[in-house]
Amino acid sequence: MCGVVGIIGNDDVVRELYQGLLAIQHRGQDSAGIITYDGKFHIKKGNGLVRDIFTAENIQRLKGIIGLGHTRYPTIGGGRGEDAQPFLVNSPFGIMMAHNGNVINYKALKKLIFDKYHRLVNSDNDVEIILNVFAQELAEQKTKKLHPDHIFKAVAGTYKKVKGSYSVVAYIAEQGMVAFRDPYGIKPLVFGKRHDGILPSFAIASESVCLNIMNYNHVKNIEAGQALFIDHRRKVHIRKIANCPHTPCLFEWVYFARPDSFIDNVNVYKCRINLGRFLADEIKKHNLKIDVVIPVPDSASDAAIEIARKLNLKYREALVKNRYIGRTFIMPADDKRRTSVRQKLNPIASEFKNKNVLLIDDSIVRGHTSRKIIDLARECGAKKVYFASYSPPLRFPCVYGIDMQTKTEFVARKANPDQIAKEIGADKVIYQNLDSLKKAVNLGNKKLTSFCAACFDGIYPTGDVTPEILKTIEKERKLLQESQLELNL
Ligand code: SF4
Repeated sequence: MCGVVGIIGNDDVVRELYQGLLAIQHRGQDSAGIITYDGKFHIKKGNGLVRDIFTAENIQRLKGIIGLGHTRYPTIGGGRGEDAQPFLVNSPFGIMMAHNGNVINYKALKKLIFDKYHRLVNSDNDVEIILNVFAQELAEQKTKKLHPDHIFKAVAGTYKKVKGSYSVVAYIAEQGMVAFRDPYGIKPLVFGKRHDGILPSFAIASESVCLNIMNYNHVKNIEAGQALFIDHRRKVHIRKIANCPHTPCLFEWVYFARPDSFIDNVNVYKCRINLGRFLADEIKKHNLKIDVVIPVPDSASDAAIEIARKLNLKYREALVKNRYIGRTFIMPADDKRRTSVRQKLNPIASEFKNKNVLLIDDSIVRGHTSRKIIDLARECGAKKVYFASYSPPLRFPCVYGIDMQTKTEFVARKANPDQIAKEIGADKVIYQNLDSLKKAVNLGNKKLTSFCAACFDGIYPTGDVTPEILKTIEKERKLLQESQLELNL
């Protein structure tokens, strides 16, 4: 998971890009970067949070009315500074690019790009693969001036070669801004317009909230398999290039996206309320005696309020989050996750003491965080600790850009809810069912009927995820975790 933002404006865009990146910081905390263009490219990238990477000095240096920004969380490749996006190639024209997603056939393409096109991919970042494939597709058209047809032909060529999920934003020097979403539209991408000069400004971003914060209006989705080209006269050209079923990532609504964002026209907050409503129905079936509903902050709060309302129970925010510690789920190494949970959540003991507590979380991934929280509840004197997840059991690796790529990591891998309860130390574990999750999203947009739910049901919408690919990704993921574990020691 990453966040992208691209702007073609009327004044220097760096401050807006910075603001935009802060709005999507939750999508990646490992590294960030901005490249601007004013006749040449100006670059600043680094490891860490947006606020730590960009100083007044480099904001001053990043000149230009066009730019891209990116917040990264590593999937393929490690967390090295040189793997931070956006990336650049100097031919044809000079292209900068950033993406959100994960290229499944990364290794095969890296080899093809070198063997056939003699292009060296120097980083471990899969956007460099998409960038080189796209650049090659443009170069082969041998034209001095790019027209929309050239761009769309290059995107079609990229679709043919690059497998996986990718929402891309790019700028081609002196030609225009390009954005496209993979044929299945797994990761979100939106664009908006603002009238602030003789020509309008345009912004493209991973989440609508990013555009809202920068005052862009007319926010629209870039659809699955669709490409957009904004030329230098600021004329917008849009074309549907691939006609695969649209299967957006369900986990965006469960966890990744901000509640104030709209993903494919579905408000994340409203979806989480629906999820709370449906999970309350599940909880009711168990006839538990519950004294209080407590959310695991922050993503679970919206659903937990609805659960408490529907079950007529007390709601208490009795786990207090230190907001200045990174999201545990997206911290690369497992031991880092474990230690940070305790630093991150502090209980208000009186709300647990002598009570039957229902804890609500968005999901249960590895189970370490859940176990730690349940331990905290018991240390505070809770009589019974029930744990409910408003997403279904996670059982299969995500190959589309989420840090859940090894099957062995899932506590629900081969276990039923009672076994999971035992594993994480709960008196009962209750899950949302997958149909309810889909229904919660569909209520917000009736046109959304198919989804990527691969981490729940093992059905990969792109259809090209072989057991070999899963094994390779799993192996790479383990190596990455081991190397990061060494770095942390
Ligand atoms: S496998 Fe899960 S997390 Fe990955 S893209 Fe699909 S729904 Fe999202």
